[in-house]
Amino acid sequence: MSLIFKRIEYMCTYCGKKETRSPSMGRPQPGKCPRKNGDKPHSWVINRRLG
Ligand SMILES: [Zn+2]
Repeated sequence: MSLIFKRIEYMCTYCGKKETRSPSMGRPQPGKCPRKNGDKPHSWVINRRLG
């Protein structure tokens, strides 16, 4: 594996919440997004990779 990033910062495109995880942890828990109606999960996208 040539993956050398130690941290990946995810951000929800709806509410702007950020969560930093290690690559081995995978994506954050879907959770509940306060900006969406009902019990909708966050829309996580990778915001940036931290070395
Ligand atoms: Zn959200």
